Amino acid sequence: MNGLQAKLKSVIKGDVLSDPQTIEQYSHDASIFEIKPQVVVFPKDTEDLKNLVKFVNQEKGLSLTARSAGTDMGGGSINDSIIVAFGKYFNHIKSVDEKSKYAVAEPGVFYRDFEKETLKKGLIFPSYPASREICAIGGIVNNNSGGEKSLAYGKTENYVEKLKVVLSDGNEYELKKLNKNELNKKIKQNDFEGNIYKKTFELIEKNYDLLQEAKPKVSKNSAGYYLWNVYDKDKEIFDLTKLFVGAQGTLGLVTQAQIGLVPVKKHAEMMILFLHDITHLGEIINIVLPLKPDTFEAYDDNTLKLALKYFPEFAKLLGTKGTIRTALAFLPEFIMTITGGLPKLILQVDFQSDDMEELNSKIKQLKEALKPLHPKTRVADNETKELKYWLIRRESFNLLRQKIHDKHTAPFIDDFVVSPEYLPEFLPKLNSILKKYPSLISTLAGHVGDGNFHIIPLMNIEDPKQRAIIPVLEKEVYDLVLSYHGSITGEHNDGLIRTPFLKQMYGDKVYKLFEEVKKIFDPNDIFNPRKKVGATVDFAMNHIRTSFT
Ligand SMILES: Cc1cc2nc3c(=O)[nH]c(=O)nc-3n(C[C@H](O)[C@H](O)[C@H](O)COP(=O)(O)OP(=O)(O)OC[C@H]3O[C@@H](n4cnc5c(N)ncnc54)[C@H](O)[C@@H]3O)c2cc1C
Repeated sequence: MNGLQAKLKSVIKGDVLSDPQTIEQYSHDASIFEIKPQVVVFPKDTEDLKNLVKFVNQEKGLSLTARSAGTDMGGGSINDSIIVAFGKYFNHIKSVDEKSKYAVAEPGVFYRDFEKETLKKGLIFPSYPASREICAIGGIVNNNSGGEKSLAYGKTENYVEKLKVVLSDGNEYELKKLNKNELNKKIKQNDFEGNIYKKTFELIEKNYDLLQEAKPKVSKNSAGYYLWNVYDKDKEIFDLTKLFVGAQGTLGLVTQAQIGLVPVKKHAEMMILFLHDITHLGEIINIVLPLKPDTFEAYDDNTLKLALKYFPEFAKLLGTKGTIRTALAFLPEFIMTITGGLPKLILQVDFQSDDMEELNSKIKQLKEALKPLHPKTRVADNETKELKYWLIRRESFNLLRQKIHDKHTAPFIDDFVVSPEYLPEFLPKLNSILKKYPSLISTLAGHVGDGNFHIIPLMNIEDPKQRAIIPVLEKEVYDLVLSYHGSITGEHNDGLIRTPFLKQMYGDKVYKLFEEVKKIFDPNDIFNPRKKVGATVDFAMNHIRTSFT
Protein backbone atom coordinates (compact mmCIF):
# COMPACT_ATOMS: atom_id res chain seq x y z
CA MET A 1 0.00 0.00 0.00
CA ASN A 2 1.51 3.37 -0.95
CA GLY A 3 1.50 6.34 1.47
CA LEU A 4 -1.21 8.20 -0.42
CA GLN A 5 -3.44 5.14 -0.46
CA ALA A 6 -3.10 4.76 3.31
CA LYS A 7 -4.00 8.43 3.89
CA LEU A 8 -6.99 8.26 1.55
CA LYS A 9 -8.30 5.16 3.32
CA SER A 10 -8.57 7.23 6.47
CA VAL A 11 -10.40 10.01 4.59
CA ILE A 12 -13.17 8.10 2.73
CA LYS A 13 -15.44 5.12 3.35
CA GLY A 14 -15.20 3.94 -0.27
CA ASP A 15 -12.50 1.76 -1.81
CA VAL A 16 -8.96 2.97 -2.47
CA LEU A 17 -6.88 0.85 -4.84
CA SER A 18 -3.37 1.04 -6.22
CA ASP A 19 -2.62 -2.56 -7.23
CA PRO A 20 -0.92 -2.98 -10.64
CA GLN A 21 -4.04 -4.35 -12.34
CA THR A 22 -6.23 -1.42 -11.25
CA ILE A 23 -3.55 1.14 -12.13
CA GLU A 24 -3.16 -0.48 -15.56
CA GLN A 25 -6.93 -0.47 -16.19
CA TYR A 26 -7.38 3.17 -15.21
CA SER A 27 -4.32 4.29 -17.20
CA HIS A 28 -6.44 4.03 -20.33
CA ASP A 29 -9.71 5.16 -21.79
CA ALA A 30 -10.71 4.70 -25.47
CA SER A 31 -8.06 7.21 -26.58
CA ILE A 32 -4.51 6.75 -27.87
CA PHE A 33 -3.06 7.83 -24.52
CA GLU A 34 -1.69 6.17 -21.44
CA ILE A 35 -1.20 7.93 -18.10
CA LYS A 36 -0.73 6.11 -14.80
CA PRO A 37 -2.97 7.43 -12.02
CA GLN A 38 -1.50 7.81 -8.52
CA VAL A 39 -4.34 5.83 -7.04
CA VAL A 40 -7.97 4.98 -7.91
CA VAL A 41 -10.80 5.73 -5.48
CA PHE A 42 -14.40 4.51 -5.57
CA PRO A 43 -16.34 7.00 -3.43
CA LYS A 44 -19.40 5.61 -1.62
CA ASP A 45 -21.35 8.85 -1.31
CA THR A 46 -21.20 12.62 -1.55
CA GLU A 47 -19.56 12.88 1.89
CA ASP A 48 -16.65 10.89 0.48
CA LEU A 49 -16.37 13.31 -2.44
CA LYS A 50 -16.42 16.34 -0.15
CA ASN A 51 -13.72 14.79 2.03
CA LEU A 52 -11.63 13.97 -1.03
CA VAL A 53 -11.74 17.58 -2.22
CA LYS A 54 -10.88 18.89 1.25
CA PHE A 55 -7.97 16.42 1.49
CA VAL A 56 -6.58 17.39 -1.91
CA ASN A 57 -6.81 21.06 -0.96
CA GLN A 58 -4.71 20.44 2.14
CA GLU A 59 -2.04 18.29 0.50
CA LYS A 60 -0.18 20.18 -2.17
CA GLY A 61 0.33 18.84 -5.70
CA LEU A 62 -2.61 16.41 -5.82
CA SER A 63 -5.56 16.43 -8.21
CA LEU A 64 -8.84 14.58 -8.89
CA THR A 65 -9.91 13.25 -12.27
CA ALA A 66 -13.48 11.99 -12.58
CA ARG A 67 -14.32 8.85 -14.50
CA SER A 68 -17.68 7.24 -15.16
CA ALA A 69 -17.42 4.44 -17.76
CA GLY A 70 -14.00 5.47 -19.15
CA THR A 71 -14.93 5.41 -22.86
CA ASP A 72 -13.60 8.89 -23.58
CA MET A 73 -11.80 9.02 -26.94
CA GLY A 74 -9.51 11.99 -26.23
CA GLY A 75 -7.88 11.11 -22.91
CA GLY A 76 -10.47 13.07 -20.89
CA SER A 77 -10.84 10.47 -18.16
CA ILE A 78 -7.15 9.63 -17.56
CA ASN A 79 -4.52 11.65 -15.69
CA ASP A 80 -1.60 11.47 -13.25
CA SER A 81 -4.22 12.21 -10.55
CA ILE A 82 -6.32 10.43 -8.04
CA ILE A 83 -8.94 8.88 -10.35
CA VAL A 84 -12.43 9.25 -8.91
CA ALA A 85 -14.36 6.29 -10.33
CA PHE A 86 -18.14 6.75 -10.16
CA GLY A 87 -19.26 3.45 -11.68
CA LYS A 88 -19.18 1.29 -8.56
CA TYR A 89 -21.37 3.20 -6.09
CA PHE A 90 -22.86 6.23 -7.90
CA ASN A 91 -25.02 4.07 -10.12
CA HIS A 92 -28.64 4.69 -9.12
CA ILE A 93 -31.52 5.95 -11.21
CA LYS A 94 -33.41 8.08 -8.70
CA SER A 95 -36.62 8.68 -10.65
CA VAL A 96 -38.25 8.88 -14.05
CA ASP A 97 -41.02 11.49 -14.12
CA GLU A 98 -43.47 10.61 -16.88
CA LYS A 99 -45.54 13.77 -16.51
CA SER A 100 -42.76 16.34 -16.49
CA LYS A 101 -40.60 14.19 -18.80
CA TYR A 102 -37.29 13.97 -16.99
CA ALA A 103 -35.11 11.44 -15.19
CA VAL A 104 -32.73 11.90 -12.29
CA ALA A 105 -29.64 9.70 -12.27
CA GLU A 106 -26.19 9.37 -10.77
CA PRO A 107 -23.13 9.66 -13.03
CA GLY A 108 -22.14 6.00 -12.94
CA VAL A 109 -25.45 4.75 -14.40
CA PHE A 110 -24.82 3.04 -17.73
CA TYR A 111 -26.85 4.58 -20.55
CA ARG A 112 -28.18 1.13 -21.52
CA ASP A 113 -29.76 0.79 -18.04
CA PHE A 114 -31.01 4.38 -18.05
CA GLU A 115 -32.77 3.88 -21.38
CA LYS A 116 -34.47 0.68 -20.23
CA GLU A 117 -36.14 2.66 -17.43
CA THR A 118 -37.12 5.67 -19.57
CA LEU A 119 -38.56 3.43 -22.31
CA LYS A 120 -40.88 1.86 -19.73
CA LYS A 121 -42.54 5.31 -19.62
CA GLY A 122 -42.43 5.79 -23.41
CA LEU A 123 -39.64 8.37 -23.08
CA ILE A 124 -36.08 8.62 -24.37
CA PHE A 125 -33.01 10.86 -23.96
CA PRO A 126 -32.45 11.66 -27.64
CA SER A 127 -28.79 12.63 -27.48
CA TYR A 128 -27.44 9.18 -26.65
CA PRO A 129 -24.02 8.49 -28.21
CA ALA A 130 -23.05 5.57 -30.46
CA SER A 131 -21.26 4.17 -27.39
CA ARG A 132 -24.70 3.76 -25.81
CA GLU A 133 -24.00 0.17 -24.70
CA ILE A 134 -20.73 0.99 -22.89
CA CYS A 135 -20.87 4.60 -21.62
CA ALA A 136 -22.49 6.24 -18.59
CA ILE A 137 -24.46 9.36 -17.69
CA GLY A 138 -21.44 11.13 -16.10
CA GLY A 139 -19.49 11.01 -19.35
CA ILE A 140 -22.50 11.92 -21.47
CA VAL A 141 -23.06 15.08 -19.42
CA ASN A 142 -19.41 16.03 -19.04
CA ASN A 143 -18.58 15.48 -22.71
CA ASN A 144 -21.79 17.10 -23.94
CA SER A 145 -22.29 13.93 -25.95
CA GLY A 146 -24.27 13.74 -29.13
CA GLY A 147 -25.37 11.04 -31.47
CA GLU A 148 -27.50 9.99 -34.38
CA LYS A 149 -30.60 11.88 -33.17
CA SER A 150 -28.77 15.14 -32.45
CA LEU A 151 -29.67 16.38 -35.94
CA ALA A 152 -33.35 16.60 -34.94
CA TYR A 153 -33.05 17.01 -31.17
CA GLY A 154 -29.74 18.77 -30.48
CA LYS A 155 -27.13 17.65 -27.98
CA THR A 156 -26.94 16.84 -24.26
CA GLU A 157 -26.64 20.57 -23.43
CA ASN A 158 -30.35 20.94 -24.41
CA TYR A 159 -31.48 18.28 -21.92
CA VAL A 160 -29.53 18.88 -18.70
CA GLU A 161 -32.02 20.64 -16.41
CA LYS A 162 -30.28 20.45 -13.02
CA LEU A 163 -26.94 19.23 -11.73
CA LYS A 164 -25.60 18.48 -8.28
CA VAL A 165 -21.89 19.20 -8.13
CA VAL A 166 -19.08 19.16 -5.58
CA LEU A 167 -16.96 22.26 -6.12
CA SER A 168 -13.40 23.11 -5.14
CA ASP A 169 -14.38 24.32 -1.65
CA GLY A 170 -15.50 20.76 -0.85
CA ASN A 171 -19.24 21.45 -0.71
CA GLU A 172 -22.10 20.23 -2.84
CA TYR A 173 -24.31 22.70 -4.75
CA GLU A 174 -27.27 22.50 -7.07
CA LEU A 175 -26.98 24.20 -10.46
CA LYS A 176 -30.11 25.19 -12.37
CA LYS A 177 -31.71 28.07 -14.29
CA LEU A 178 -31.89 31.27 -12.23
CA ASN A 179 -33.87 34.41 -12.99
CA LYS A 180 -32.29 37.82 -12.37
CA ASN A 181 -33.61 38.06 -8.79
CA GLU A 182 -32.34 34.63 -7.89
CA LEU A 183 -28.98 35.44 -9.45
CA ASN A 184 -28.70 38.70 -7.51
CA LYS A 185 -29.48 36.85 -4.28
CA LYS A 186 -26.69 34.37 -4.99
CA ILE A 187 -24.26 37.15 -5.83
CA LYS A 188 -25.02 38.88 -2.53
CA GLN A 189 -24.28 35.74 -0.49
CA ASN A 190 -20.66 36.85 -0.21
CA ASP A 191 -19.39 33.29 0.22
CA PHE A 192 -17.67 30.77 -2.09
CA GLU A 193 -20.83 30.06 -4.07
CA GLY A 194 -21.80 33.74 -4.26
CA ASN A 195 -18.33 34.61 -5.46
CA ILE A 196 -18.55 32.07 -8.26
CA TYR A 197 -21.85 33.54 -9.49
CA LYS A 198 -20.53 37.10 -9.15
CA LYS A 199 -17.27 36.53 -11.01
CA THR A 200 -18.77 34.35 -13.75
CA PHE A 201 -21.61 36.81 -14.35
CA GLU A 202 -19.19 39.75 -14.50
CA LEU A 203 -16.91 37.90 -16.90
CA ILE A 204 -19.81 37.03 -19.21
CA GLU A 205 -21.45 40.44 -19.08
CA LYS A 206 -18.17 42.28 -19.74
CA ASN A 207 -17.36 40.08 -22.73
CA TYR A 208 -20.90 39.43 -23.94
CA ASP A 209 -20.46 40.39 -27.61
CA LEU A 210 -17.08 38.69 -27.90
CA LEU A 211 -18.56 35.48 -26.49
CA GLN A 212 -21.64 35.52 -28.70
CA GLU A 213 -19.36 36.00 -31.69
CA ALA A 214 -17.16 33.10 -30.50
CA LYS A 215 -20.04 30.60 -30.50
CA PRO A 216 -19.12 28.10 -33.23
CA LYS A 217 -21.19 28.47 -36.40
CA VAL A 218 -21.89 24.75 -36.68
CA SER A 219 -24.82 22.72 -35.34
CA LYS A 220 -22.68 20.65 -32.96
CA ASN A 221 -19.76 21.58 -30.75
CA SER A 222 -18.09 20.09 -27.70
CA ALA A 223 -14.89 22.20 -27.77
CA GLY A 224 -14.07 24.71 -25.02
CA TYR A 225 -16.29 26.09 -22.24
CA TYR A 226 -19.70 27.18 -23.64
CA LEU A 227 -19.68 30.59 -21.93
CA TRP A 228 -21.97 32.01 -24.64
CA ASN A 229 -24.83 29.74 -23.46
CA VAL A 230 -24.79 30.68 -19.76
CA TYR A 231 -26.57 34.05 -19.75
CA ASP A 232 -29.63 34.75 -21.87
CA LYS A 233 -29.71 38.54 -21.83
CA ASP A 234 -33.20 38.86 -23.33
CA LYS A 235 -34.87 36.46 -20.92
CA GLU A 236 -32.51 37.39 -18.05
CA ILE A 237 -31.84 33.72 -17.32
CA PHE A 238 -28.49 32.66 -15.89
CA ASP A 239 -27.77 28.93 -15.98
CA LEU A 240 -24.49 27.41 -14.79
CA THR A 241 -25.49 23.92 -15.97
CA LYS A 242 -24.68 25.28 -19.45
CA LEU A 243 -21.09 25.82 -18.36
CA PHE A 244 -20.75 22.48 -16.58
CA VAL A 245 -22.09 20.42 -19.47
CA GLY A 246 -19.09 19.43 -21.54
CA ALA A 247 -16.56 20.80 -19.03
CA GLN A 248 -14.98 17.33 -18.64
CA GLY A 249 -14.87 17.47 -14.86
CA THR A 250 -12.46 20.43 -14.92
CA LEU A 251 -14.74 22.68 -12.84
CA GLY A 252 -16.03 20.17 -10.29
CA LEU A 253 -17.46 16.69 -9.75
CA VAL A 254 -21.00 15.92 -10.91
CA THR A 255 -22.89 13.79 -8.38
CA GLN A 256 -26.38 13.80 -9.93
CA ALA A 257 -28.10 14.98 -13.11
CA GLN A 258 -31.71 15.78 -13.95
CA ILE A 259 -32.10 15.07 -17.64
CA GLY A 260 -35.01 16.04 -19.90
CA LEU A 261 -36.63 13.31 -22.04
CA VAL A 262 -38.83 13.23 -25.14
CA PRO A 263 -41.63 10.85 -26.15
CA VAL A 264 -40.64 7.94 -28.40
CA LYS A 265 -42.26 8.24 -31.82
CA LYS A 266 -44.32 5.27 -33.01
CA HIS A 267 -43.12 4.69 -36.57
CA ALA A 268 -39.84 4.91 -38.48
CA GLU A 269 -38.85 4.59 -42.15
CA MET A 270 -35.34 4.59 -43.47
CA MET A 271 -33.87 5.16 -46.91
CA ILE A 272 -30.34 4.04 -47.74
CA LEU A 273 -28.40 5.78 -50.52
CA PHE A 274 -25.34 4.18 -52.10
CA LEU A 275 -22.95 6.76 -53.61
CA HIS A 276 -20.19 5.60 -55.94
CA ASP A 277 -18.68 9.07 -55.92
CA ILE A 278 -19.39 12.15 -53.87
CA THR A 279 -19.90 14.60 -56.75
CA HIS A 280 -23.57 15.09 -55.88
CA LEU A 281 -23.21 14.92 -52.10
CA GLY A 282 -23.88 18.64 -51.66
CA GLU A 283 -27.08 18.48 -53.74
CA ILE A 284 -28.23 15.37 -51.89
CA ILE A 285 -27.68 17.08 -48.53
CA ASN A 286 -29.71 20.06 -49.76
CA ILE A 287 -32.54 17.74 -50.79
CA VAL A 288 -32.56 15.69 -47.59
CA LEU A 289 -32.24 18.35 -44.86
CA PRO A 290 -35.44 20.35 -45.68
CA LEU A 291 -37.43 17.12 -45.21
CA LYS A 292 -36.31 17.24 -41.57
CA PRO A 293 -35.10 13.66 -41.06
CA ASP A 294 -34.58 12.43 -37.52
CA THR A 295 -31.14 11.16 -38.46
CA PHE A 296 -28.90 11.53 -41.50
CA GLU A 297 -25.85 9.31 -41.12
CA ALA A 298 -22.98 8.18 -43.34
CA TYR A 299 -20.21 5.64 -43.52
CA ASP A 300 -17.61 4.70 -46.09
CA ASP A 301 -16.64 1.56 -48.01
CA ASN A 302 -13.95 0.62 -45.45
CA THR A 303 -16.60 0.57 -42.72
CA LEU A 304 -18.86 -1.62 -44.87
CA LYS A 305 -15.98 -4.00 -45.67
CA LEU A 306 -15.35 -4.33 -41.95
CA ALA A 307 -18.99 -5.20 -41.32
CA LEU A 308 -18.85 -7.87 -44.02
CA LYS A 309 -15.62 -9.30 -42.65
CA TYR A 310 -17.07 -9.59 -39.14
CA PHE A 311 -20.62 -10.38 -40.07
CA PRO A 312 -20.91 -13.31 -37.56
CA GLU A 313 -20.40 -10.68 -34.81
CA PHE A 314 -23.21 -8.65 -36.35
CA ALA A 315 -25.39 -11.75 -36.30
CA LYS A 316 -24.89 -11.90 -32.53
CA LEU A 317 -25.69 -8.22 -32.16
CA LEU A 318 -28.77 -8.58 -34.33
CA GLY A 319 -29.92 -11.34 -32.02
CA THR A 320 -30.93 -13.51 -34.95
CA LYS A 321 -31.12 -17.26 -34.38
CA GLY A 322 -28.25 -18.66 -36.45
CA THR A 323 -26.47 -16.74 -39.12
CA ILE A 324 -28.73 -17.53 -42.06
CA ARG A 325 -31.13 -14.62 -41.56
CA THR A 326 -28.18 -12.26 -41.08
CA ALA A 327 -26.42 -13.66 -44.15
CA LEU A 328 -29.58 -13.03 -46.16
CA ALA A 329 -29.77 -9.50 -44.80
CA PHE A 330 -26.16 -8.88 -45.87
CA LEU A 331 -26.53 -10.66 -49.25
CA PRO A 332 -26.82 -7.49 -51.38
CA GLU A 333 -23.60 -6.14 -49.86
CA PHE A 334 -21.78 -9.47 -50.43
CA ILE A 335 -22.88 -9.36 -54.08
CA MET A 336 -21.62 -5.77 -54.36
CA THR A 337 -18.20 -6.90 -53.07
CA ILE A 338 -17.96 -9.80 -55.50
CA THR A 339 -18.96 -7.65 -58.47
CA GLY A 340 -16.60 -4.85 -57.41
CA GLY A 341 -19.52 -2.49 -56.99
CA LEU A 342 -19.01 -1.44 -53.39
CA PRO A 343 -20.17 2.17 -52.96
CA LYS A 344 -17.74 4.83 -51.70
CA LEU A 345 -20.25 6.29 -49.27
CA ILE A 346 -23.46 4.93 -47.76
CA LEU A 347 -26.03 7.47 -46.55
CA GLN A 348 -28.79 6.58 -44.12
CA VAL A 349 -31.84 8.85 -43.92
CA ASP A 350 -34.27 8.03 -41.13
CA PHE A 351 -37.69 9.61 -40.61
CA GLN A 352 -39.78 9.08 -37.48
CA SER A 353 -43.34 10.10 -36.72
CA ASP A 354 -46.51 9.04 -34.97
CA ASP A 355 -48.24 9.39 -38.34
CA MET A 356 -47.47 6.65 -40.89
CA GLU A 357 -48.88 8.71 -43.75
CA GLU A 358 -46.44 11.52 -43.04
CA LEU A 359 -43.57 9.04 -43.21
CA ASN A 360 -44.69 7.50 -46.49
CA SER A 361 -45.10 10.95 -47.95
CA LYS A 362 -41.58 11.99 -46.92
CA ILE A 363 -40.03 8.84 -48.44
CA LYS A 364 -42.01 9.51 -51.64
CA GLN A 365 -40.89 13.14 -51.77
CA LEU A 366 -37.29 12.11 -51.19
CA LYS A 367 -37.40 9.49 -53.98
CA GLU A 368 -38.88 12.05 -56.40
CA ALA A 369 -36.38 14.77 -55.53
CA LEU A 370 -33.42 12.38 -55.88
CA LYS A 371 -34.49 11.03 -59.31
CA PRO A 372 -32.45 13.50 -61.41
CA LEU A 373 -29.27 12.48 -59.55
CA HIS A 374 -29.86 8.70 -60.06
CA PRO A 375 -28.36 7.47 -56.78
CA LYS A 376 -28.94 3.80 -55.96
CA THR A 377 -31.41 3.73 -53.07
CA ARG A 378 -33.17 1.19 -50.93
CA VAL A 379 -35.90 1.54 -48.33
CA ALA A 380 -35.16 -0.64 -45.30
CA ASP A 381 -38.51 -2.33 -45.04
CA ASN A 382 -38.08 -4.76 -42.21
CA GLU A 383 -36.64 -4.51 -38.73
CA THR A 384 -33.58 -6.70 -39.30
CA LYS A 385 -32.57 -4.72 -42.36
CA GLU A 386 -33.02 -1.43 -40.56
CA LEU A 387 -31.08 -2.61 -37.53
CA LYS A 388 -28.32 -3.97 -39.77
CA TYR A 389 -27.57 -0.49 -41.11
CA TRP A 390 -27.73 1.01 -37.64
CA LEU A 391 -25.33 -1.57 -36.27
CA ILE A 392 -22.81 -1.01 -39.07
CA ARG A 393 -22.93 2.70 -38.30
CA ARG A 394 -22.81 2.38 -34.51
CA GLU A 395 -20.55 -0.60 -33.95
CA SER A 396 -17.80 -0.17 -36.55
CA PHE A 397 -15.39 1.64 -34.20
CA ASN A 398 -15.96 -0.89 -31.44
CA LEU A 399 -15.30 -3.75 -33.89
CA LEU A 400 -12.10 -2.08 -35.04
CA ARG A 401 -10.98 -1.78 -31.42
CA GLN A 402 -11.77 -5.36 -30.56
CA LYS A 403 -11.06 -7.33 -33.72
CA ILE A 404 -8.05 -5.91 -35.50
CA HIS A 405 -4.98 -7.16 -33.67
CA ASP A 406 -2.04 -6.21 -35.88
CA LYS A 407 -3.04 -2.51 -35.96
CA HIS A 408 -4.69 -0.15 -33.49
CA THR A 409 -7.48 2.35 -33.71
CA ALA A 410 -6.02 5.80 -33.26
CA PRO A 411 -8.67 8.45 -32.64
CA PHE A 412 -7.03 11.86 -33.13
CA ILE A 413 -8.98 13.34 -36.07
CA ASP A 414 -12.09 11.56 -34.88
CA ASP A 415 -14.81 14.16 -34.47
CA PHE A 416 -14.57 17.39 -36.45
CA VAL A 417 -17.57 19.36 -37.74
CA VAL A 418 -17.84 21.40 -40.92
CA SER A 419 -21.11 22.99 -41.99
CA PRO A 420 -22.75 20.56 -44.48
CA GLU A 421 -22.84 23.15 -47.28
CA TYR A 422 -19.01 23.09 -47.39
CA LEU A 423 -18.71 19.28 -47.52
CA PRO A 424 -18.48 18.83 -51.32
CA GLU A 425 -15.50 21.21 -51.32
CA PHE A 426 -14.08 20.13 -47.96
CA LEU A 427 -14.14 16.32 -48.35
CA PRO A 428 -11.87 16.14 -51.46
CA LYS A 429 -9.37 18.42 -49.68
CA LEU A 430 -9.50 16.17 -46.64
CA ASN A 431 -8.95 13.14 -48.88
CA SER A 432 -5.86 14.75 -50.41
CA ILE A 433 -4.41 15.23 -46.92
CA LEU A 434 -5.13 11.62 -45.94
CA LYS A 435 -3.61 10.32 -49.20
CA LYS A 436 -0.26 11.79 -48.14
CA TYR A 437 -0.11 9.06 -45.49
CA PRO A 438 -0.62 5.84 -47.49
CA SER A 439 0.51 3.70 -44.54
CA LEU A 440 -2.66 4.66 -42.67
CA ILE A 441 -5.89 2.84 -43.43
CA SER A 442 -8.88 4.62 -41.97
CA THR A 443 -12.64 4.32 -41.70
CA LEU A 444 -14.93 7.31 -42.05
CA ALA A 445 -18.38 7.46 -40.52
CA GLY A 446 -20.47 10.24 -39.14
CA HIS A 447 -23.47 12.45 -38.88
CA VAL A 448 -23.52 13.91 -42.38
CA GLY A 449 -26.59 16.04 -41.61
CA ASP A 450 -24.53 17.95 -39.05
CA GLY A 451 -21.29 17.75 -41.07
CA ASN A 452 -19.79 15.82 -38.14
CA PHE A 453 -17.31 13.09 -39.17
CA HIS A 454 -15.40 10.39 -37.34
CA ILE A 455 -12.17 9.32 -39.05
CA ILE A 456 -10.42 6.50 -37.26
CA PRO A 457 -6.98 5.60 -38.68
CA LEU A 458 -5.52 2.17 -38.00
CA MET A 459 -1.90 2.40 -36.90
CA ASN A 460 1.10 0.46 -35.67
CA ILE A 461 1.23 2.59 -32.56
CA GLU A 462 4.42 0.89 -31.34
CA ASP A 463 6.31 2.21 -34.39
CA PRO A 464 7.79 5.67 -33.57
CA LYS A 465 7.55 6.64 -37.28
CA GLN A 466 3.78 6.03 -37.24
CA ARG A 467 3.37 7.86 -33.94
CA ALA A 468 5.23 10.83 -35.42
CA ILE A 469 2.48 11.17 -38.03
CA ILE A 470 -0.12 11.99 -35.36
CA PRO A 471 0.75 15.65 -34.53
CA VAL A 472 1.47 16.48 -38.17
CA LEU A 473 -1.67 14.97 -39.67
CA GLU A 474 -3.78 16.27 -36.81
CA LYS A 475 -2.56 19.83 -37.40
CA GLU A 476 -3.20 19.60 -41.14
CA VAL A 477 -6.76 18.34 -40.63
CA TYR A 478 -7.65 20.88 -37.93
CA ASP A 479 -6.15 23.73 -39.99
CA LEU A 480 -8.47 22.68 -42.83
CA VAL A 481 -11.50 22.32 -40.52
CA LEU A 482 -10.92 25.73 -38.97
CA SER A 483 -10.44 27.35 -42.39
CA TYR A 484 -14.08 26.33 -42.99
CA HIS A 485 -15.15 27.83 -39.59
CA GLY A 486 -15.74 24.35 -38.22
CA SER A 487 -15.26 22.81 -34.80
CA ILE A 488 -12.43 20.43 -33.82
CA THR A 489 -14.95 18.32 -31.90
CA GLY A 490 -18.70 17.89 -32.29
CA GLU A 491 -19.27 15.43 -29.46
CA HIS A 492 -16.12 13.62 -28.20
CA ASN A 493 -14.74 16.73 -26.47
CA ASP A 494 -11.22 18.10 -26.04
CA GLY A 495 -9.37 15.85 -23.58
CA LEU A 496 -5.63 15.71 -24.07
CA ILE A 497 -5.81 15.43 -27.82
CA ARG A 498 -7.65 18.64 -28.70
CA THR A 499 -7.08 21.02 -25.78
CA PRO A 500 -3.86 22.27 -27.45
CA PHE A 501 -5.97 23.42 -30.44
CA LEU A 502 -8.52 25.47 -28.48
CA LYS A 503 -6.49 28.69 -28.75
CA GLN A 504 -6.36 28.29 -32.53
CA MET A 505 -10.09 27.58 -32.72
CA TYR A 506 -11.31 30.40 -30.49
CA GLY A 507 -8.46 32.93 -30.61
CA ASP A 508 -6.30 34.32 -27.75
CA LYS A 509 -8.97 36.53 -26.16
CA VAL A 510 -11.62 33.85 -25.78
CA TYR A 511 -9.06 31.26 -24.68
CA LYS A 512 -8.00 33.70 -21.93
CA LEU A 513 -11.62 33.76 -20.75
CA PHE A 514 -11.54 29.96 -20.58
CA GLU A 515 -8.46 30.26 -18.33
CA GLU A 516 -10.24 32.85 -16.15
CA VAL A 517 -13.30 30.64 -15.74
CA LYS A 518 -11.14 27.70 -14.74
CA LYS A 519 -9.47 29.97 -12.11
CA ILE A 520 -12.86 31.11 -10.74
CA PHE A 521 -14.07 27.57 -10.15
CA ASP A 522 -10.82 25.76 -9.53
CA PRO A 523 -8.10 28.20 -8.41
CA ASN A 524 -5.68 25.45 -7.34
CA ASP A 525 -6.15 23.34 -10.49
CA ILE A 526 -7.31 20.26 -8.57
CA PHE A 527 -9.89 19.06 -11.13
CA ASN A 528 -8.67 17.16 -14.20
CA PRO A 529 -5.60 19.33 -14.90
CA ARG A 530 -4.44 19.96 -18.51
CA LYS A 531 -7.92 19.46 -19.97
CA LYS A 532 -9.68 22.50 -21.48
CA VAL A 533 -6.75 24.73 -20.42
CA GLY A 534 -3.06 24.22 -19.79
CA ALA A 535 -2.32 21.37 -22.20
CA THR A 536 0.55 21.25 -24.66
CA VAL A 537 1.01 19.12 -27.77
CA ASP A 538 4.30 17.87 -26.26
CA PHE A 539 2.61 16.57 -23.09
CA ALA A 540 0.00 14.78 -25.18
CA MET A 541 2.53 13.29 -27.61
CA ASN A 542 4.74 12.07 -24.74
CA HIS A 543 1.79 10.07 -23.40
CA ILE A 544 0.76 8.21 -26.54
CA ARG A 545 0.57 4.50 -25.85
CA THR A 546 3.49 2.52 -27.19
CA SER A 547 1.69 -0.81 -27.06
CA PHE A 548 -1.80 -2.24 -26.70
CA THR A 549 -0.98 -5.35 -24.69
C1 LIG B 1 -17.12 2.91 -29.71
C2 LIG B 1 -17.30 4.32 -29.24
C3 LIG B 1 -18.23 5.14 -29.84
C4 LIG B 1 -18.43 6.45 -29.37
N1 LIG B 1 -19.41 7.23 -29.95
C5 LIG B 1 -19.69 8.44 -29.44
C6 LIG B 1 -20.75 9.24 -29.95
O1 LIG B 1 -21.48 8.84 -30.86
N2 LIG B 1 -20.99 10.44 -29.40
C7 LIG B 1 -20.26 10.89 -28.33
O2 LIG B 1 -20.55 11.98 -27.82
N3 LIG B 1 -19.22 10.19 -27.86
C8 LIG B 1 -18.93 8.98 -28.34
N4 LIG B 1 -17.91 8.24 -27.82
C9 LIG B 1 -17.10 8.78 -26.73
C10 LIG B 1 -17.67 8.45 -25.32
O3 LIG B 1 -18.15 7.13 -25.29
C11 LIG B 1 -18.84 9.37 -24.93
O4 LIG B 1 -18.45 10.72 -24.99
C12 LIG B 1 -19.44 9.01 -23.57
O5 LIG B 1 -20.54 9.83 -23.31
C13 LIG B 1 -18.47 9.09 -22.43
O6 LIG B 1 -19.08 8.46 -21.34
P1 LIG B 1 -18.21 7.73 -20.20
O7 LIG B 1 -19.13 7.46 -19.08
O8 LIG B 1 -17.45 6.59 -20.72
O9 LIG B 1 -17.22 8.93 -19.83
P2 LIG B 1 -15.78 8.93 -19.19
O10 LIG B 1 -14.77 8.46 -20.19
O11 LIG B 1 -15.78 8.24 -17.89
O12 LIG B 1 -15.61 10.50 -18.97
C14 LIG B 1 -15.69 11.44 -19.99
C15 LIG B 1 -15.33 12.83 -19.45
O13 LIG B 1 -16.26 13.22 -18.45
C16 LIG B 1 -15.64 13.44 -17.21
N5 LIG B 1 -16.51 12.89 -16.15
C17 LIG B 1 -16.99 11.63 -16.07
N6 LIG B 1 -17.76 11.51 -14.97
C18 LIG B 1 -17.77 12.72 -14.35
C19 LIG B 1 -18.36 13.23 -13.15
N7 LIG B 1 -19.12 12.48 -12.36
N8 LIG B 1 -18.13 14.53 -12.81
C20 LIG B 1 -17.35 15.33 -13.59
N9 LIG B 1 -16.76 14.89 -14.72
C21 LIG B 1 -16.97 13.60 -15.10
C22 LIG B 1 -14.31 12.72 -17.29
O14 LIG B 1 -13.32 13.31 -16.45
C23 LIG B 1 -13.97 12.85 -18.76
O15 LIG B 1 -13.35 14.08 -18.98
C24 LIG B 1 -17.64 6.95 -28.30
C25 LIG B 1 -16.67 6.11 -27.71
C26 LIG B 1 -16.50 4.82 -28.16
C27 LIG B 1 -15.47 3.96 -27.48
